[in-house]
Amino acid sequence: MRTCINEAMLSLPQDVPVSALILDMQYRTLIQTHNQREKLKRVSAHAEILAIEQLKDTTSTLTLITTLQPCLMCTSAILDCHNISRVVFGAYDQEPQLIYATDLLIEKGIEVVGGVLENDCAKLLKDYFASIRLP
Ligand SMILES: [Zn+2]
Repeated sequence: MRTCINEAMLSLPQDVPVSALILDMQYRTLIQTHNQREKLKRVSAHAEILAIEQLKDTTSTLTLITTLQPCLMCTSAILDCHNISRVVFGAYDQEPQLIYATDLLIEKGIEVVGGVLENDCAKLLKDYFASIRLP
């Protein structure tokens, strides 16, 4: 998750600092990317989506790690990528609909671990939103 936090910082200053890593069964990092919604001018350029798009054909069972609880769009992408068996995230999102998104992953048999280095991941977002509110 430390690597994930460092990667998330690469989203700054224009994008919300969120990142995603995809690991294989031996916990080797296959993909490491960050949110680039503003940079790419693409609404769907969330870290998880970009990570899944970069994924080459693999039969390995994968773990996706992200600094923020995946949104509904990213949850759909995770479900469509049939190799991901585990999702680990840092900060919980305050959006009530995300409880539904996370439940959806669990219902489909994906192991979900939330709140890993939660304070550090949440601080990253809090600092970002505080900085853009400055005049
Ligand atoms: Zn998302």
